[in-house]
Amino acid sequence: MSDPLNIEASGSEKLYRFANRYKDAKVDKAFFVPKLCNHCTHPACVQVCPTGATYKTRDGVVLIDHKYCIGCQYCVQACPYGARFFNHAKGVTDKCTWCYHRITKGLLPACVEVCPVEARMFGDLNDRDSVVSRFIRDNRVQVLKPETGNAPNVYYIGLDKEVT
Ligand code: SF4
Ligand code: SF4
Repeated sequence: MSDPLNIEASGSEKLYRFANRYKDAKVDKAFFVPKLCNHCTHPACVQVCPTGATYKTRDGVVLIDHKYCIGCQYCVQACPYGARFFNHAKGVTDKCTWCYHRITKGLLPACVEVCPVEARMFGDLNDRDSVVSRFIRDNRVQVLKPETGNAPNVYYIGLDKEVT
């Protein structure tokens, strides 16, 4: 299989190596921005879902009930954050659930728990004393693409203004 942007790996490398596609470009800086489902307050994905498979729980988490998902992918198109993907094997869409199976048992999402430098925190924004409520009060935070009106609930600090 040929890939115009990547080159096939050899030896112990897996699948592909990235080609040096920026070799002639002047790179001033490089940074990494982890993106995930924002569990938006006004989620476009919920609005467009024709079957009600995508819904918001009473505690504010956006989930997909795969029993009702028909795989139309309207939600994939509607999400301005690219947070959803189509699961070809199952014929349904999928995304981050904020580890709903864990947080409803009082556990942290797995990514929050395992991060070795505690770069992520998680909590209840309705609780003024939660770790996230206090953090948001005490720090200058930003969200991605506020202009879309989805009212995302994932906050970043130190976000570069060029990040969208
Ligand atoms: S980030 Fe996208 S998939 Fe997640 S709730 Fe918002 S609109 Fe829906
Ligand atoms: S792919 Fe599934 S969850 Fe997404 S809009 Fe269609 S039915 Fe709803």
